[in-house]
Amino acid sequence: MNQQAPVKKNDEIYVHFEDLTHEGNGVAKVDSYPLFVPNALPGEKGKIKVVKVNKNYGFGKLMELTETSPDRVAPACPIYDACGGCQLQHLSYSGQLQIKYKQVKDVLTRIGKLENVKVHPVLGMDDPWRYRNKAQVPVGDREGGLIAGFYKHRSHDIIDMEACLIQQEQNDIVVQTVKKICEKYGIYAYNEELHKGTLRHIMARYGHKTGEIMIVLITRTKEIPHKKMVVEDILKAIPEVRSIVQNVNAKRTNVIFGDETKVLWGNEVIYDYIGNIRFAISARSFYQVNPEQTKVLYNKALEFAGLTGEETVIDAYCGIGTISLFLAQKAKQVYGVEIVPEAIEDAKRNAELNGITNVEFAVGEAETIIPQWYSQGINADVLVVDPPRKGCDETLLKTIIEMKPRQVVYVSCNPATLARDLRILEDGSYQTVEVQPVDMFPQTMHCEAVAKIMLKL
Ligand code: SAH
Repeated sequence: MNQQAPVKKNDEIYVHFEDLTHEGNGVAKVDSYPLFVPNALPGEKGKIKVVKVNKNYGFGKLMELTETSPDRVAPACPIYDACGGCQLQHLSYSGQLQIKYKQVKDVLTRIGKLENVKVHPVLGMDDPWRYRNKAQVPVGDREGGLIAGFYKHRSHDIIDMEACLIQQEQNDIVVQTVKKICEKYGIYAYNEELHKGTLRHIMARYGHKTGEIMIVLITRTKEIPHKKMVVEDILKAIPEVRSIVQNVNAKRTNVIFGDETKVLWGNEVIYDYIGNIRFAISARSFYQVNPEQTKVLYNKALEFAGLTGEETVIDAYCGIGTISLFLAQKAKQVYGVEIVPEAIEDAKRNAELNGITNVEFAVGEAETIIPQWYSQGINADVLVVDPPRKGCDETLLKTIIEMKPRQVVYVSCNPATLARDLRILEDGSYQTVEVQPVDMFPQTMHCEAVAKIMLKL
């Protein structure tokens, strides 16, 4: 790489876009110096203005396209340009699936050094809109009222939003309704700079199969002015509400939730189904956001696990036990481990709810609990991992290599850490057999994949 960048700030140049970054920016190269440009697609050509120059890469702004991609489409959402939520609305859905396939294939080769692994075409949605079952929106003040929506790109300015096209409509209705009711009772939004005001975020969760709704009001203060009336008005406006919860977060932080959660009205949980299994979901528990594709993903995980009914299975990072209970139907015994205590409470309740008795759940770090189980003589024929974006802890991977389950099923929401971890397993006598990407997050760059990994004999 040249010591000196080949472009200067404010240069206007013609470029050819070759690739797309994980953030969804087009990549153009000038003498091998990469420039990242929002809203440009691979295969396109155009004029850009250089807006930022770092040592090894820079950023540009698209001024004009001279050649457009056949996959370019008009974004369906009117606020797409300002909002940071979606990155791919300007690309056709088939183009999105191709990009995600390529992303998985590329990292497996580049990071995992796994050239020969079979990667299947991405399983996409028939209708890739209105799929999310959970909305979490920041609230702000405006002259005479409240706004609720999303942060403008790279800032904490809140843009008011009436509809989000990847949300299930009920969540839009909840956000609008709660905003109006809180406005009516003069509840102030939280002000980040002054650390004053009450309402920080509104969260809405919708049970896709049951139609049940949970509303969480995340507040700075323990008290909510006119709380009783707020609750009554919400119930009158949205009869499908089964649970209204308050979470108190008194800290100066970007983290949404605080430690204190209390029920204001109704149940502590709402219910939903994935396949034929019923799940109780509480405010703080992780639950997959795309229920339709979750079924596709879990069926793939189940298929990759190859269960006959005789196996002991460990589900690391089990959340509320979704995958554990899915697998328990086909296994002899399942052990699930998860770090969030409330999620394990939900997991136990979910086992009971479905009359499933061959599962046990433990609270703790997978990398701590699984070695303990191993030393107590609990071993697994099949081990499933579904870690957060940072991937598996190395201690856990080492334990897997020692325990030698005949099969590992890796469910991943980040192809880069998947590839890194597959390499570690490959170096420890495992072989990645196939990888199936599933599109859980249409219109965004996020990409989910499940891998089947076998012990080499
Ligand atoms: N399998 C579940 C949850 C997957 S999300 C599902 O599909 O619904 C990842 C989960 O891992 C989250 O619930 C998170 O709380 C949990 N987690 C994060 N770090 C962990 C760790 N070190 N050990 C165990 N669980 C962890």
